[in-house]
Amino acid sequence: MPVERSEPRLAEELHKYYELYETIGSGGFAKVKLGRHILTGEKVAVKIMNKKDLGDDLPRVKVEMEAMKNLSHQHICRLYQVIESPTQIFMILEYCPGGELFDYIIAKDRLSEEETRVFFRQIVSAMAYVHSQGYAHRDLKPENLLIDGDHNLKLIDFGLCAKPKGGLGYELMTCCGSPAYAAPELIQGKAYIGSEADVWSMGVLLFALLCGYLPFDDDNCMVLYRKITKGKYDNPNWLSPGSVLLLNQMMQVDPKRRVTVRQLLDHPWVTKDYNSPVEWYSQQPLGHIDEDCVTEMAVNMKRSRESTTALIREWHYDHLTATYMLLLSKKQRGKPVRLHREPLASEDAISPLHGRSQTKKTLHFTDDDDAVILGRVDLCSDYMDDCPWVSVTRHTPQGAGEKTQRTIDDKRLASPLVENRCVQTTTPEKGHAPAQHRQERKRRDRDPTCENKENVALQETDVEIFALPPPRTPASGKKHPRPGRNVLTTPNPSLSNGTRGTALTPKVGGSGSKELVKKKAAESKESTNLEILAFSPERRSRSLDMAASDSGKKKKAGRVFGSLERGLDKVITMLTPGKRRALRDGPRKIKAQYNVTLTGQTNPDQVLNQILSVLPSKHVDFSQKGYTVKCRTWDDFGKVTMAFELEVCLLHRPEVVGVRRQRLKGDAWVYKHLVEDILSTSSI
Ligand code: ADP
Repeated sequence: MPVERSEPRLAEELHKYYELYETIGSGGFAKVKLGRHILTGEKVAVKIMNKKDLGDDLPRVKVEMEAMKNLSHQHICRLYQVIESPTQIFMILEYCPGGELFDYIIAKDRLSEEETRVFFRQIVSAMAYVHSQGYAHRDLKPENLLIDGDHNLKLIDFGLCAKPKGGLGYELMTCCGSPAYAAPELIQGKAYIGSEADVWSMGVLLFALLCGYLPFDDDNCMVLYRKITKGKYDNPNWLSPGSVLLLNQMMQVDPKRRVTVRQLLDHPWVTKDYNSPVEWYSQQPLGHIDEDCVTEMAVNMKRSRESTTALIREWHYDHLTATYMLLLSKKQRGKPVRLHREPLASEDAISPLHGRSQTKKTLHFTDDDDAVILGRVDLCSDYMDDCPWVSVTRHTPQGAGEKTQRTIDDKRLASPLVENRCVQTTTPEKGHAPAQHRQERKRRDRDPTCENKENVALQETDVEIFALPPPRTPASGKKHPRPGRNVLTTPNPSLSNGTRGTALTPKVGGSGSKELVKKKAAESKESTNLEILAFSPERRSRSLDMAASDSGKKKKAGRVFGSLERGLDKVITMLTPGKRRALRDGPRKIKAQYNVTLTGQTNPDQVLNQILSVLPSKHVDFSQKGYTVKCRTWDDFGKVTMAFELEVCLLHRPEVVGVRRQRLKGDAWVYKHLVEDILSTSSI
């Protein structure tokens, strides 16, 4: 008897099967929370997206979901389940507790050639598989590689991937991805082969692993594009001849002269010390069904093994698929293949695999108190309110600090604006009405020829042509003081001291900050291989630009500083008993980890005060709870460009105060620079 599969896919389904915990990340479109699958007890990542906020980017999410359903590989983050309500989409994903490869690189300054090779082999393995399935990823960067519990890499973010109907050899046109990782042919708006463009990005990624900064970088997009199209970069002196050669083979401006992923599989640099080519085939092919898992599920569902197998084979990416995959994951890690059997009401027509009454177990949203107030409208766009925060310092565009209680207006301001653009030749005026932007974009989106027209216009005026947008804000890096030392770095014994230092701080502002929009992939995938140009909003943090210009205007900065001190007094007197207790209890005691900066100081309050006093001068809004400071920056349109946490904590050995950092949203290289700046200015 077939099992009824028409149960309504409502958001409540999420609460039936999963417990939700804290926010562990957020991207341009989603908030990601830690969750637990109740039946298996396994941890999962729950990617939460609000359809209204997604707007025109909804197709991008559909592309990502379809791709992830088709891809099953040891180095690709697994999709377990999709839950869709009329207003929201929840993607239940394999949980990667090790964070982003990006954070790992910056914490170590750069990786040794040996460690780089371990990771790079996994990247080659994932990409060879992705290409073998007819996909190009098109957004390869260290932020999109997560580290799992076994220190293995998992590729995420398939929202920009393309699967040309005629195969990967067919040319694509959509210019997408992050500029710093984009291949020259893509930047120039030429037709390109997806797999060739991916190899270029892998070259940039390899360089970032080995060097700790980007090969092509500039605050000014046009300068950056020129650098990329010339393909000239400097090889630091610590690179081995083999590394220099491989990088050169990958970052060939002419895609036809670029090494292929196939060639990388047994490239001498890649196989060094391994003496074997990279294994790229899937160790977990979708077709295979594990008998032990089937048996356990059949018992739980009170069904025959045959019918259970048949149900699993339908791969609906519902709770049944999730349960099977999570059970299999348990088995692969040597854990018992057991489902948690909780008593179910016998009259419950739905088996445990198909849902449980909400009343049987209380599930908690730990950090969405505000979402309740706002009817959960902001579930995706806001991460800040884990609990009632003391207050939020909100800066006006002019930079004047203004202490406010959080209001609904604040949240409205924080809601994402639609800013995708075709080639834009002028920098919008400050205060340019967002609505106007939206209308302009809609006009361009409706007009599939706008790309060509604009390119023609550019040609006529004899301006260099790049398919990517110019910067929206003036280049400011040169004015920005660099932090004196790399404060994000934890000692990396594998690197020799002699070579560290000069080249290790990435260039200011990091052009990785100019992230492109990721859209239109779906339409193009559906219809034709000729895709429409589309860009993402730049992710440069406005606060960074302002901090930069402030470096030459110390007096002005001093005024902001004064207002902060007054504000802090207020904050302390406003503390509720709970908050006072949080401070009285002292900071958390943790072990040294790669995302913790050691301070050499022993007084946590002093460190906390130092950080709090510096944030306004960097134009960072913050809210404080105990020893954790949640920070964010905004752009001129009121959109949150960066969100991160700094937590003052105590370390056992050495017994000093540390600062744990976690990026929640925003461009990784800009985040690195900003946090370095905050910590070094705080004299930490
Ligand atoms: P978006 O599609 O909106 O860009 P991402 O998929 O990139 O969102 O996720 C945003 C962030 O959430 C990631 O950069 C990462 O830090 C975190 N994250 C995403 N997926 C996972 C996961 N499976 N496990 C742990 N953290 C994750």
